[in-house]
Amino acid sequence: MAQPTMGNQIRGNPGMDHKARQLRLRNALAAHRLDALVVTHPPNILYLCGFSGSAGALVLTHAKSLLFTDGRYTTQARSEVQGAQIVIGRKGPLAAVAYWLATHSRKNSHRRVPPFRAGIEGEHLSVAARDRLAAQLPSNCRLRLAPALVEGARMVKDAQEIQRIRAAVLTGAGLFERALAVIHPGVKETDVAAEMEYAARQAGAEAMSFPTIVASGSRSALPHGRASRSAVPARGFVVCDFGVILTDYCSDMTRTIYVGRPSSEERRAYQAVKEAQQAAVDAVRPGISVGEVDRAARKSLKNNCLVKYFTHSTGHGVGLEIHEAPRVGAGQTEVLQPGMVITVEPGVYLPGRFGVRIEDMVVVTERGCEVLTPTRKELIEI
Ligand code: ZN
Ligand code: ZN
Repeated sequence: MAQPTMGNQIRGNPGMDHKARQLRLRNALAAHRLDALVVTHPPNILYLCGFSGSAGALVLTHAKSLLFTDGRYTTQARSEVQGAQIVIGRKGPLAAVAYWLATHSRKNSHRRVPPFRAGIEGEHLSVAARDRLAAQLPSNCRLRLAPALVEGARMVKDAQEIQRIRAAVLTGAGLFERALAVIHPGVKETDVAAEMEYAARQAGAEAMSFPTIVASGSRSALPHGRASRSAVPARGFVVCDFGVILTDYCSDMTRTIYVGRPSSEERRAYQAVKEAQQAAVDAVRPGISVGEVDRAARKSLKNNCLVKYFTHSTGHGVGLEIHEAPRVGAGQTEVLQPGMVITVEPGVYLPGRFGVRIEDMVVVTERGCEVLTPTRKELIEI
């Protein structure tokens, strides 16, 4: 059945178990001695109750969940929100949250009752918004900086999320075939990106998960070389790093191809990155730290004397956001668990000369990992 639309696409959230997610958060609230959590980061709100609007706040207490938004989102909230009461505020979501907290904590204003402790997401709430909220609260309601509880929960994906991520990865991988069809000497990087982005929309993607990277020739040495007006040269690497958002979940992959015939040095560099990427993929399993995955990639590149050109971390979590926890970098101690979805993307960048990166998405399984990205990794020469 067609869903009503109001500017934004309203989809409902079939199959997502928001109540189970809220229950996990409630347990975390107790462990952190919080009476409530004020969730203001839109992806965290989407994760916990399905609301995808841009103006909202979710208050989670031990007894209930309330989604605060404004009149623009009445229809959308009714269609999307699961497991939370909807409150439409006239002065905006945070003002409504303040009013609710004030009213609610006043009920507990007996002197012997300890103050009501409401956690806020310090990484996502501006100082001004925090001050406005605090100014409206009675003395028996205290704001506390909460740790990243929702981000922590989001690291381990449930079955429905993995299903959506698989679909996003496959749609994203399809764009690479489009890139291969259009890359040739003289074509502008932005034209390649435009073709890929058009194909993404045609395949049903809601958006790209980040600005498409097409970096050719010496620009391939820029790890984040967004597609520019430069033309692909007659000879050299082209790094393509791209992803789509499909039913809210992001994909992310990189392939590096060669236009013309590579030199033996370029071929060796490509093979070294391919080996390092495989070494890191092979290291992914439950119980090891993400730092060890990073170390596996670095060790492999060190064997090929290229490690000094590997200037970023090995990967990152992916889900509702393109970059989310955990960061797969040197010295990071987060331990992998089944259900985590991360990228594995070592690269080498020789400034002014060339760069190579290969990136897959993998899901941690009970025994190791499954590579989700289906695309071949042998060097493609065009
Ligand atoms: Zn990427
Ligand atoms: Zn990435």
